[in-house]
Amino acid sequence: MNPKGRAGQIGREIDGKVVRPLRQLAMVIDLNKCIGCHSCSIACKQLWTGDEGREHMWWNTVNTMPGRGTPRDWEKMGGGFASDHEARPGEIPKQGEFGEAWKFNHQEVFFGGKGAKAQLRVEGEQPTWGPNWDEDQGGGEYPNSFYFYLPRLCNHCTHPACVEACPRGAIRKREEDGIVLVNEDWCKGYRFCMEACPYKKIYFNFESQVANKCIMCLPRVEKGVATACTRQCPGRARFFGFQDVESSAVHKLVERWKVAVPLHPEYGTIPNVFYIPPLSPAAIDEHGHFDAKRGRIPEDYLRSLFGQAGIDALDTLAGEMKKTREGESSELIETLVSIEWTEMLGGFDRDPSTIRWVKPESGRVGNEGNAHHDE
Ligand code: SF4
Ligand code: SF4
Ligand code: SF4
Repeated sequence: MNPKGRAGQIGREIDGKVVRPLRQLAMVIDLNKCIGCHSCSIACKQLWTGDEGREHMWWNTVNTMPGRGTPRDWEKMGGGFASDHEARPGEIPKQGEFGEAWKFNHQEVFFGGKGAKAQLRVEGEQPTWGPNWDEDQGGGEYPNSFYFYLPRLCNHCTHPACVEACPRGAIRKREEDGIVLVNEDWCKGYRFCMEACPYKKIYFNFESQVANKCIMCLPRVEKGVATACTRQCPGRARFFGFQDVESSAVHKLVERWKVAVPLHPEYGTIPNVFYIPPLSPAAIDEHGHFDAKRGRIPEDYLRSLFGQAGIDALDTLAGEMKKTREGESSELIETLVSIEWTEMLGGFDRDPSTIRWVKPESGRVGNEGNAHHDE
């Protein structure tokens, strides 16, 4: 794929370069193991977005599907590249669509001396949307109602629309690992990247007036420690590592077994975060009997998220699960179960407590060398 043409959102020629780095870090998230606990979101928040100007940012979110998501209705906001190899016009999500950072009465509850009489509540203007606003609402009609969790972060795409859209060249895909970073010193806050990213995974920092996004925990990764969202996942739903290491779980799931697939491949950015699509309980027919031929999650809905590759992945999974039920062994199922959890980390299994966090003086975490861990 080599898209060329005019980027609708910025009215300039794009060179359509697909950036193939020397090596690519990737993540696989098994939606059958995600329990929607949000530990990943909190781990990221604690580490990277607690500073002034970043209060409203959640570089990692976990949405309930089908749902409107974060920012609200992000799948309808455009961006990325059209199938005819043109850039698709996009829009910048409004702050209210992400949701404001809520202010709570912490002072009253924790230090007010009122005991159980003071309950935690949002202060000031009442919110109308926020991350996970539609948590656990789900979809479908009873008795075939369903939902599943979908953790989302920047995909560190191979054809990153955000990089193409920035007229300042302030976003770069690193050759050595494929991580996509905003250079906050070069960024002038035009927000073309927010328009162009079809996953709407870039936030605007109203304090520093620059774009901020997931940095794939670069300062940890450089020291051999997996990303915080991977490491903190109690469901052991996340796999991490270089895609070209054949012994890694990521390589096996993406390349060998092809059961890990990108979300919305039609957006044309070639994501490097992959998903094991959710298996479905059998549907219930009009007589109240299980219909083993149909899943409760409609196939068309899954296809709309993951393309035909997602349906093929589920067929492969079902075949391998059948094998294990019949007493045979399956490398795929063993990889997914991961009894040895360190094998999920593609060699990035160093204990995070052995590295020391050094807070950047500028507060800028997007620039290489600015935020780091030390030995
Ligand atoms: S997900 Fe969006 S922000 Fe991340 S690399 Fe892709 S286009 Fe850029
Ligand atoms: S990789 Fe790191 S920066 Fe990105 S969402 Fe996960 S914890 Fe946050
Ligand atoms: S920490 Fe793991 S299980 Fe919990 S929501 Fe995130 S991906 Fe899912």
